[in-house]
Amino acid sequence: MIYSIVKFGNPVLEKAAELVTDFDDDLKKLVADMFESMYEARGVGLAAPQIGLSRRLAVIDVTFKEDPNAKLVLVNPEIIDTEGKYTQPEGCLSIPEFREPVARARKVTVRAQDVDGKWFEKTGEDLLARALLHETDHLNGKLYISHISALKRDLMKRKIRKLIKAGEW
Ligand SMILES: [Zn+2]
Repeated sequence: MIYSIVKFGNPVLEKAAELVTDFDDDLKKLVADMFESMYEARGVGLAAPQIGLSRRLAVIDVTFKEDPNAKLVLVNPEIIDTEGKYTQPEGCLSIPEFREPVARARKVTVRAQDVDGKWFEKTGEDLLARALLHETDHLNGKLYISHISALKRDLMKRKIRKLIKAGEW
């Protein structure tokens, strides 16, 4: 099942999501649907709040289908280590058509559960590091625009408000 992506302005994107406690078949189905929805939207990461579900769950594939081993499911993730810094343009499926440079750590380690509830640690660099931070932020109700200047953020919000008014959001 393909979910439609919730856009900026919906409060579900700006509140902390709830812990996942049931590691059952429904969760596996939801994860499969989230991958499908992410690929359909041409994204490399998708967090549950972005499909309207306030749950601490995200999927990532920074290779976009090229490497099946790159598919990553994060349940109840926590960032436990960060290293270095680099700036690169970043976007979000929930804020389509916009991109802004964001400074992020270059190397990130996350601790999370898999679909069976088993804890694991994963370290990623560059784009994967960025995705780990971006998706974990989503589960804390935080969008990448909170990492850009207030001036740029206000400008972006103003443009989005115009699009909402015009029925184009
Ligand atoms: Zn996003």
